[in-house]
Amino acid sequence: MKYIFVTGGVVSSLGKGLAAASIGTLLEHRGLKVQLQKFDPYLNVDPGTMSPYQHGEVYVLDDGAETDLDLGHYERFTHANLSRLNSLSSGQVFDSVIKNERAGKYLGATVQFIPHVTDEIKNRLHLATEREPDTDVIITEIGGTVGDIEGHLFLEALRQFSLDVGRENVCFIHVTLLPMVKAAGEIKTKPTQQSVAKLREIGIQPDIIICRTEHDLDDDNRRKIAMFCNVPQNNVVAFRDVKHTIYQCPLDLRKDKIDRLVSDALGLDSQTPDLTLWQQFVERLINPTFKTKIAVVGKYIDLNDAYKSIYESITIAGAAHDTEVEIIKVDAEDIEKSDAKSIIGEVNGILIPGGFGERGIEGKILAAQYARENQIPYFGICLGMQIATIEFARNVCGLEKADSTEFNKDTPHPVISLQEEQQGITDMGASMRLGSCESIVHPDTIAHQLYNQNTTIHERHRHRYEFNPAYKEQLTNAGLIISSVSKEKGLVEIIEVKDHPFFIAAQFHPEFKSKPNQPHPIFSGFIQASLKHH
Ligand code: GLN
Repeated sequence: MKYIFVTGGVVSSLGKGLAAASIGTLLEHRGLKVQLQKFDPYLNVDPGTMSPYQHGEVYVLDDGAETDLDLGHYERFTHANLSRLNSLSSGQVFDSVIKNERAGKYLGATVQFIPHVTDEIKNRLHLATEREPDTDVIITEIGGTVGDIEGHLFLEALRQFSLDVGRENVCFIHVTLLPMVKAAGEIKTKPTQQSVAKLREIGIQPDIIICRTEHDLDDDNRRKIAMFCNVPQNNVVAFRDVKHTIYQCPLDLRKDKIDRLVSDALGLDSQTPDLTLWQQFVERLINPTFKTKIAVVGKYIDLNDAYKSIYESITIAGAAHDTEVEIIKVDAEDIEKSDAKSIIGEVNGILIPGGFGERGIEGKILAAQYARENQIPYFGICLGMQIATIEFARNVCGLEKADSTEFNKDTPHPVISLQEEQQGITDMGASMRLGSCESIVHPDTIAHQLYNQNTTIHERHRHRYEFNPAYKEQLTNAGLIISSVSKEKGLVEIIEVKDHPFFIAAQFHPEFKSKPNQPHPIFSGFIQASLKHH
C-alpha cells in the first residue's frame, strides 16, 4: 500500500481537493486502484450540522456518512468506493479518544496529544486501507493551511506515519499559491518558500510542490522554488487556473506529468494514462452543439458550493447531450414578492433542490406550480419533491393549506410528515434518514424508462420528512403517479405528474451519483426533456 498526503499552504481555497481528485483520476488512468480521503481539523464530528453558509453542501456517501464536498469531487473524478472511514474530523478523533479514556482503555496512562491523539489519527489511516486491501494508493487530503494551530496534530501524525510505514511508501505533496504582484509584474515564490519551511519545521519534507498560478511557471521560478524548497526541479508542478471547467484540472496537471512523478516517487509499476475519453468529455463541455436554460430555485443561490453536486450533475448531463446548460439561479424569496413567471421567465426546465426550514418555501411552491401548469420540465430533489407534493395537494386536489409538518405543525393536510421513528428525536447530528436504500421502480412510468427499465435502484438519502401514506390514494386519484417506493417500508421515493412532458421528483439525492461520461439517469432525462421544450 502506498500513501499520498496532500497539504496546503499560503491560503485556503487553493483547489487542494481538486488537485487530490485530479491525481486520483490520473493514477486510475494509469491502471491503479485508488482510494481518497479527507482529514478536516474542525471540531464538528461531521459537517452534517453546519450551515451551508459555513461549509457548502453536505455530501452523503452510500453508508450515510455526511461529509465534506471534496468527497464529491473524489467520487466524480474517480471510481473510488468511499465510506465513513474516508472522512475524519478532529471532532471524531477527540470523541473517540475521550470515549476510550472513559472506558479505561489507556490502562492508567496520562492521555496526551502525542501519542494518544496522533495514534487515533494513524489508526484511521490503517482502518481505511484495511477496508479495501487491494487499493494501490490512498490519497489523503488534509484540510486547512499549514501553520494553522488546529491542523498541527494531523501533520505530526502523518510525519510519524511516514516513518512507521517507510518513507519510500509515502509521497508528500504540498499545494501552494504563487501570487502575481501586478505592480512589479512578477510572480512571487516567497510565500511558497515560507510555507514549505513551516512544513519542514514539523519534520515533513514535501516530495512534490504543486503551484497554483494564474500564469505559466517559467524555468527561473521553478529553479528558485526547487532550490529553496529542497526538491528536484521536475517536482515543481504548475497548476494553472482552468478556463472552462474543473474537469480540465487532471489534464493540466498531466502537462507536468504529476502522475509519473508520483508513480516514480512511490516506486509504482504503472502505464502511461490513456485520457482520450476524459478529453472527449472536456471537449464536449467546451464546444457543445446545443444550448438549454435551467432555473434552479433555491435559497442559497449566492453560494455556489451549497448546491455543488447539483450544478456538477447538470453540467455532466449537459455534456452527455452535447449541450451547454445555462443555469439561472433564482432566489425563492424573490418569487414570493412577485410571481413565478416574471422572476423565472422563459426557461427550458426548473429544478428545485433539497433544503431545510421554512424560508422561501412558498416561492418554491409557486415555481413548481408554474412548471406544472405550463408544461415546463420539472425536477424536484428531496425538498423539491416535498414541494411538488404540497403544490399538487393544494392546487389539484383542492386541499387548502396542505403542507409539510416541518413548516406548519398544525396544517389540516399534512401531506408530508414525520415517520414514527423520527418523532421525538432531539439530537441533530446524523439523526436523519441517511444513505443508500433499495427501491422498486414501477413499470410504465417515466422513472422506469429513465432507469433503463430497471426495477431495482439504489439511491442516497438525507432527510427527515416523508410523503404521508394517508394521502396516497387521494393524490394518485387526482393524477399524481407514484413511480418508485422503498423496498423495505414502501416509502414514496419518486413521484410524477400525469399528462406532463416531464414532471419528476425524487425523495433521494440523485446528484450524489453522477460522474463524467456517466450522468445520472434522471439528470440526463431532465436535460433531454428541456431540449424538447420551447
Ligand atoms: N427538509 C426536508 C426533510 O428533512 C428535506 C431535506 C432535504 O431536502 N435534504 O425531509
